Amino acid sequence: MKRKKLSRSIAGISLIAICALISGCAHETTQVEGIIETLPPETGIKMYTYVSELVKISPRDSGTLNSSLASRWIATQIQRLGYKPKADAWTESTAFGSKAFCNVYVDIPGKSDRIILIGSHYDTKAGICDDFQGANDGGSTTGVLLGLIEHFSNTRPQLYHTIRFAFFDGEECYGSKYQDDDGLHGSKRMAYQFVKDRSSSRLIAAIIIDMVGDFNQKLEIPRNVTPWLATIAVRETADNPEAARVTLGSSILIDDHIPFLISGFPALNLIDFEYGSAPGKNDYWHTPEDTIDKIDPNSLHKTGNLVVGILNRIERGDDVPPELKPPRQNTANTAQ
Ligand SMILES: [Zn+2]
Repeated sequence: MKRKKLSRSIAGISLIAICALISGCAHETTQVEGIIETLPPETGIKMYTYVSELVKISPRDSGTLNSSLASRWIATQIQRLGYKPKADAWTESTAFGSKAFCNVYVDIPGKSDRIILIGSHYDTKAGICDDFQGANDGGSTTGVLLGLIEHFSNTRPQLYHTIRFAFFDGEECYGSKYQDDDGLHGSKRMAYQFVKDRSSSRLIAAIIIDMVGDFNQKLEIPRNVTPWLATIAVRETADNPEAARVTLGSSILIDDHIPFLISGFPALNLIDFEYGSAPGKNDYWHTPEDTIDKIDPNSLHKTGNLVVGILNRIERGDDVPPELKPPRQNTANTAQ
């Protein structure tokens, strides 16, 4: 991903717009229980274990044998948890020649065909070093998603929405900057598939997480996201002490949420882009220092709970635009 500073005026307008959205409606805090249960404390260790296993396959640059091994490993974990993984493999012409990619995903069916997507990437940035782990950048969120799938497998929530967990390939660009034919390959592919398939399924939100494993976690929401999803995330972090802290950032960001946004789907990005040796630094990012010892199980756990909280709010229709609210009769608490 790549971050770009906004001009003060544009940033100000966005902040005002989002704040207006937040303060414009009465915040009804009738304590409706979550439809998906809060993650138990041991989930952080489970998520960390998934990351530890994944980084044994390093690096995972798109189009390599290791990438193929990683996608198979992810699919095997999903299968072991009792769900049917889907693998979408394709070859694409890129700025650096023809490359093979593979997205892995699983749909956990709800009562409707309306889909909420939780996505992250598992590939690594090429050319860092021979044993580049990408433990945070690519690894951490793969662990969070697998931990969430395990939680769904254990608790079997009965939801209105179908939940798609998507593991994208090809987020990283081969070159030094994103181009039309370099980077975001997996998310572009899936967003396009949703556009083609609008009649049979409806993607109502794409929630992308990236680089969440830092001990000194500082999640931010970039400015180029869908405002109502940002509102939901900010409210969840304010109300739920079990969830990761997230604030509105001052920059726009190029990451896997972009293809969904430009395809017309609501999209959110949650990222900690200060991953380094001291607060404010990002000197572990895209360096050999991005290793498993920098990953905090507690950060993974809290990120998972933030995602669960966001899903529950969308499921209940809280702060969701009227046209996307689920039918009232389907929003009752059905936690098991
Ligand atoms: Zn990266």
